[in-house]
Amino acid sequence: MANHNKYLQMFVDETTMYNNIVLPHLLPSNWWAPLPHLCQTWLRNYLAGVLLYFVSGFLWCFYIYHLKRNVFLPKDSVPSTRAMLLQIYVAMKAMPFYCALPTVSEYMVESGWTKCFYTISEVGWFAYIVYTIIYLVLVEFGIYWMHRELHDIKPLYKYLHATHHIYNKQNTLSPFAGLAFHPIDGILQAVPHVMVLFLVPTHFRTHIGLLFLEAIWTANIHDCIHAKIWPVMGAGYHTIHHTTYRHNYGHYTIWMDWMLGTLRDPDEDGDQKLK
Ligand SMILES: [Zn+2]
Ligand SMILES: [Zn+2]
Repeated sequence: MANHNKYLQMFVDETTMYNNIVLPHLLPSNWWAPLPHLCQTWLRNYLAGVLLYFVSGFLWCFYIYHLKRNVFLPKDSVPSTRAMLLQIYVAMKAMPFYCALPTVSEYMVESGWTKCFYTISEVGWFAYIVYTIIYLVLVEFGIYWMHRELHDIKPLYKYLHATHHIYNKQNTLSPFAGLAFHPIDGILQAVPHVMVLFLVPTHFRTHIGLLFLEAIWTANIHDCIHAKIWPVMGAGYHTIHHTTYRHNYGHYTIWMDWMLGTLRDPDEDGDQKLK
């Protein structure tokens, strides 16, 4: 038991370290130091989330709409400032709620409820790679079905997912749309990342890194630039999702849509238009 508690303490030390990296740089210590660990964790997730959203969003917009103007996108598909501000408004309203998810997942890891492990050497590199692949496959599966059900179950679509789908044309989509969801919708689509922690032994830092990557990825698939890297389901595919509503529900790769017949290829779409 003592050993078990010692083991779990390593996770608490790890998340405390994250809190101590983020919080002292952004807030005076008397604002956050008296708060309980869980509140500090939420605050760190929130501040890091907001920072990541704005820094990655602004840099990416500056690059594709300003520095490389007309290279990636025709002029009439650059979104209006008004559209982007609306997306920022929706995302900022939801952000405090999104941050509850990683806060709860970290709490569950610290409490020893999940199958998380602390260092790769505990399982060895081979097992680590296998577990991480299983994790990613389950997340692909989970996010595909969560997203598809958010469309297929009509009340879920109407009250939750429709908020994200008001951006249905190229020139209304921007990297800022990446987190513009109803708060519950955003949380539901991230839930597979937490569910796998109960099924697959997961390296804790890798889980944190994958959540971080998720925030970058969702901005990237809303920039409407079709990168053509097989089997990645990039923005070209996701733009089609926003215009047809019935294709390309998938996440990082095209595999789930390909297997279940909901895939629509942006290149074939272009060919059809030419005919
Ligand atoms: Zn959708
Ligand atoms: Zn979208």
